[in-house]
This record gives sequence, structure tokens and C-alpha cells, in this order.
Amino acid sequence: MPDQQQSLFENPEERIEALRREIEHNSYLYYAKDAPAISDAAFDSLMRELREMEAAHPEFYDANSPTQRVGGYVGEQFTPVVHASRMYSLDDAMGLEELDAWIDRTIEALGGFVPLCCELKIDGSGIALTYEDGRLVRASTRGDGTTGEDVTANIRTIKDVPLRLRERSAELLADPEAAIELRGEAYMPKSSFDKLNAAAEANGKDGFANPRNAAAGSLRQKDPGITAHRDLSTFIYATASNSSFDVSGQWELLEWMREAGFHVNPDVKLCATRDEVMEFCRSALEKRGSLPYEIDGVVVKVNEFAIQDRMGFTARAPRWAIAYKFPPEEKTTLLRDITVQVGRTGALTPVAELEPVRVAGSTVARATLHNEDEVHRKDVRVGDTVIVRKAGDVIPEVLGPVLSLRPDGASAWSMPSACPSCGSPVVREEGEAAYRCVSIDCPAQAHERLVHWASRGAMDIEGLGVEVIGRLLESERVADVADYYNLTEYDLATLDMGRMNKEGEAIHLGPVMAKKIIAELDASKRRGFARVLFGLGIRHVGKTTAEAVAREFPDIEKLRAASEEQLAAIDGIGGIIAHSIYLFLRTPQNERVIDRLISMGVSMAEEQRGEQKPQTLAGMTFVLTGSLVQSGMTRTEAGDALKGLGAKVSGSVSKKTSYVVAGEAAGSKYDKAVALGVPVLDEAAFLHVLETGEPPASE
Ligand code: NAD
Repeated sequence: MPDQQQSLFENPEERIEALRREIEHNSYLYYAKDAPAISDAAFDSLMRELREMEAAHPEFYDANSPTQRVGGYVGEQFTPVVHASRMYSLDDAMGLEELDAWIDRTIEALGGFVPLCCELKIDGSGIALTYEDGRLVRASTRGDGTTGEDVTANIRTIKDVPLRLRERSAELLADPEAAIELRGEAYMPKSSFDKLNAAAEANGKDGFANPRNAAAGSLRQKDPGITAHRDLSTFIYATASNSSFDVSGQWELLEWMREAGFHVNPDVKLCATRDEVMEFCRSALEKRGSLPYEIDGVVVKVNEFAIQDRMGFTARAPRWAIAYKFPPEEKTTLLRDITVQVGRTGALTPVAELEPVRVAGSTVARATLHNEDEVHRKDVRVGDTVIVRKAGDVIPEVLGPVLSLRPDGASAWSMPSACPSCGSPVVREEGEAAYRCVSIDCPAQAHERLVHWASRGAMDIEGLGVEVIGRLLESERVADVADYYNLTEYDLATLDMGRMNKEGEAIHLGPVMAKKIIAELDASKRRGFARVLFGLGIRHVGKTTAEAVAREFPDIEKLRAASEEQLAAIDGIGGIIAHSIYLFLRTPQNERVIDRLISMGVSMAEEQRGEQKPQTLAGMTFVLTGSLVQSGMTRTEAGDALKGLGAKVSGSVSKKTSYVVAGEAAGSKYDKAVALGVPVLDEAAFLHVLETGEPPASE
């Protein structure tokens, strides 16, 4: 990591200072105003960077650094309360590997594995409750860890906080007369948070950023009547002093709290092995979404109090506990560069080149910035520290820069005036977001066009993937799609793949793949006119449009003869698409490619009308999901077969869908069909329809 850090920051002292300022500013907004400006994940990412920088540069140590303190704030409108003992924060482990390393260190320090108590990490606001003679006398916030704010009147309104302890619980108290302080978390259930924010929105007010800030904000109201209406709850899990209790560890303490009438989270486990700890963390992550309240991780605590006492505390956290934090969906990282990618239609897309960073479980090194306007709207500049977001399977996104960390002299980005692939001038058409390279000879576009022609939905040429096509282009074996059909087995078999084997010999594509690709190319000549039209990559012509055009103009000669008006009259095609098709067919370069394809035997006609099957499924819409294992058909083949009988095939289920064909491992489309009451056909029923040409028997 230090190497990477060095590359990130030219002057570590300045960077450390800037990070400290940025973190302090955000802590103030978060703790004092309950209105964070950035996400917790982004905040944690900055904090982590600061910690790593400070570790690499101990010469810049500062006791006032945010890394050395419990984050918090004591507001002036409340009476300060000095805690019986400090309320600490927790050190965190980002990911299971770091948790594993913490367990290793703990085992080493203690000479063996000790039982660990695992609890959910409730995403609320820390509170302390003092009981004297069994009655609640004071309640406070965590504040800065030493001093909190007196919010007794507010906490009294929270229904699950016992105002008086149950009789039975006095048994285990070391001194039943003495005051005891319990600690836990006040939180706002997700449903209450949604209601609160919906109400704020309806009144034109700003809502809270998340349930945690909503809980903190609701606790810190001047009028307890407002807190009472905020629907807060608590989970209690600690005490200011273990010696107040006649119990030996955390597990028994939780038991005592339950007996005493506190709300204790039921999801706890006393783990006797490392595997049990890991399993608890994994299952917590899984159930996270379905819990009625927010959690942001798992707190793993050494169970025995005697061992806890031996291990003690650092300046801000206990050594005997660690917070395993769920994989964050946002991180900060360096924007190294903004490059430009040229697409099949010549559109230029700016791409963020990032210092690789792990987000939501995978490494992100690039993210699209869409177009120049978007780069300006987000105001991201090369050299910026940017926030990157990736939720689950979603494509990574650059949210924006952390402005205070922008290096001096970082200048606004603008689209290059020449295509990065071929050097031709780029143009921006009126009303369009994208700049384009309009050169017909642009190699980047050629590559994309060649890939598109071979792709599944187009000519479906198995074996012709991105890499092979790249090599074919570089070795000048092909320049456009017609060249594919000139390739010989020898050309393909001897294609240098640009890689070496273990013996240091160049890897070639080889005779087996060559034979297969030639057979595939041959088969592709008979895919029909609609596929050819789609495969040519005419701007604005997707699969459905290509099919509509081919229905109306079933061969190339008819289409070439069509006027722009005739094209625009096709159902679902407007002036822009008609113009695009018309122009494409009249561009000399394209005319030549089409003529060569025809001469090579690529069919430019739909099936003859005479051979057309009876259109028994006309007017019906089908959706395909899952894999058709019985017949081994691809979804494209199955769709084509249905279209051959006059049906429409759609990609998504709606009330208008006539049938959903569900193969094996059908997913969300199947669920949606069931929810909407759309009839579902299994593969056998589907094959019966194809064989007989009869519409499915109604349910
Ligand atoms: P923390 O919330 O990460 O962890 C410590 C706290 O966890 C404890 O104080 C306790 O209140 C709580 N906790 C919940 N369940 C627990 C359990 N079962 N056992 C023990 N403790 C439990 O640390 P922190 O110092 O309170 O706050 C840092 C957090 O605040 C970070 O998540 C950070 O992202 C966020 N923050 C965000 C911003 C922002 O601008 N977005 C600014 C400041 C802080």
C-alpha cells in the first residue's frame, strides 16, 4: 500500500493535512448537524487513507488528528454529562480478510483462541443510561466519548427503555444500591425512517440522509414531544463498568440485560471457533436487507471480562473488540486519467481511468463518464480524488470529486478535437450529447463493427470473439465484415494470438478453432435479412427495427429502392431512423461492402413468402427466460422460431405478455409472470407449440 500511496500524493504532509481538514469538516456536518454531505462509505475511505498515511509517516503524528479521537460533538443546547468511563468507538475490519488478521493477532497476543461474542452492529446513535436504585435517572448521547449531552427527557419517551429495572435483575448486581450505567444504541426502524422522510418531503423540508442520522437528530431535540413521535427503539449491549455486575463475560451480561427488561438484540452468538465467527458475519450480510433496522456490520468481542481488562484500550477503541464492516458500496480513489473510447457508430465516450480500488467486493479500475456534458456536470478532473459507487451487480459509477482534495492546477477536461483512434476531426451534431468520429476508415469503429457482426443477436458466429477479431484486424487479415468470408482455414489456423506458451513459443489460433470458425461463417450466410440489417450496425437500427424493416422490404434490392418516406412509414420507425438507413445504403463504402457480402453468398433476403409458415401465433407476445435444456435451443433460436409463426418476442414481462416460456433456472421474469398472472409454458409445452404450430392450450 505505501507504494500506491506515494504515487497518489506528491506531498504527504499536505495530503495528511488536507485529509484531516476534510474529515473534521464532514464530522461536524455529521455529528453536530446530523446532515452528512458524503456517504459513510466515502467518509470511511478517507479516514482509512489518513490512517495509512499516518502509519507510513509517523513524523506527522498529531494527537488531535481525527484518527486519535472518538468522533462526536457536544451541543450547547444540552447540559453536558461526563460519562462514568469513556465511551469508545470501535476499530474496524474492512472485509473478512482483515477480520481474520485481527483474530490471528488476538490469538497470538493471548496464546490461543478465546470465545468471541458476535453481535450485529446496529447503525444508530450511541447512548448511555444511568440507573440509581433501579430507576432511570439520566440518559445521554456519546458526545465526544468523554462528555455527552443530557437527553434524559427525550430518551424517556422511547418505549422500550425501562424506566425501572425488573426486581429479579438485582440478584447479579455487585452492589444493588450503587448506580449502574448501561450502553447501547438508539435507532430508527427503516419503516419509520421512510415515513419520516416522506412527511418531510410532503412539507417541502429536507429529510435525513439515513436512519442513523435520523436517530441522532431525533434524540437531540429540544422538545421531547418531537422525539416521542419519532418512533425510536433501542438495543442495549454494554456497561460503563463490568465490575458493577456479578457476571464473567459479555454473553452473561446480555442475559442479565434481557432479564432486567432491556431490549437486547436476539441475533448474538458466542463463537468457539474462527469458522463460527466467519459464518456469523456472512449470514449477517445476507440477512442485512431483510432486517427491519439498519446494520453496518458485526461487532466481534472477546467474551471474558478478565481478558478484556488485560487487553485494554487504544486512544479511541477497545483492543478486545473489532467491527467487521460490510463491503462498502462506495470508495474514494484517484482519477488518473480520462481516456476516450470510440464506439461502433463513432461515438466518443470519455472513460475514467482509476487507481484500482475494491468496491462492493470487486476491483474497479475504469468507469464510463458517458459524455463531455456529464464530465462537466460532475466536474471531475484528472488528479481528483473521486467517489466511486458500485451497488451489487450494478455498473461502477463515478459520483463526483472530493473538492478539497483537488490538486492545484487541475484543469477542466474537454473532448479532444481529433479521434484518438484515427486522428480525424470529431463533430458534435446538433441536439446530441455525443461527439463522433465520422471517418469511415477509423480502426476503432472497424473493430467494434466486426465484433457486432459476429455477435449473438446478429450473425452469431461462435469462435469470433473480441480477442480473435482484434488479432485479425491487426494482422490485416480483415478490414470490414465482408473480409470475414474471404478467410481461409489456413489464415485462421496461423493467426498469431500475441501470447506465449510456457515454452516461450507463440500461440496460434490452431486448426481446430479455424475449422469451427469457417463452418460457423458458412452457416451465418443463411441467417436471413433482418439479422444482416442488424449486423451491419446502421445507426439507430436495433434488432426490433431491423426485423420491422425486413418484414416490409424483404430483400436488399427492395430496400435499396425504398424512399426515405416509405421507410418512415414503417410501423415503429420515424424520420430519424429512416434517414439513417437511407444514408447508410447510399454511402459508397457501405454499398461496396454490401455488394461484396452478396457476392460471397450472404443471403440478403427473408424466407420466401411461399415457404412462410401459417402465422398461427399472430397477435401474441412471448417472453423467454431460463435455458431450454431439453432442446438445447438458444433463446435467440427459440425467439426466431416463435417469430416464424407470427408471434412477437419481447424482453420484458408486462400485463400485455401473452405467454412466458420458462426454461431451467428461470429468474425474475418468471416471478413477474406469476405476479401478473401471465400464463407460463414449460419447455415441453413450448416445443409442442413449435411442432404443431398450434397456439398454447388456454389455461
Ligand atoms: P462506528 O459507528 O463505526 O462504530 C462504533 C460504534 O458502534 C459504537 O460507538 C457503538 O455506538 C456502535 N455499535 C453498534 N452496535 C454495537 C454493538 N453491538 N456493540 C458495540 N458497539 C456497537 O464508529 P463511530 O466512531 O461511532 O462513527 C464512525 C461512523 O460514523 C462511521 O461509520 C462513519 O462513516 C460515520 N461518519 C460519517 C460521516 C459522514 O460525513 N458521512 C462523518 C463522520 C462519521
